[in-house]
Amino acid sequence: MIRIVCPFCHSPLNATDLETATLGDRVCLVCPECEHVLLMDDEAQAGPEVPVSAEAVEAHA
Ligand SMILES: [Zn+2]
Repeated sequence: MIRIVCPFCHSPLNATDLETATLGDRVCLVCPECEHVLLMDDEAQAGPEVPVSAEAVEAHA
């Protein structure tokens, strides 16, 4: 489980708590507390697995 502290509102979050959004063809992670964008997909690719799928994005919309 990846633990994240939002740099904007400092809420402790699990990666699975993050909301997803798309900007153009990029997938972003969005803090559910303050709705700031935390992570763009090209940053995510440098890290370990990111639990974001296109299906989850569409289900959220
Ligand atoms: Zn936040």
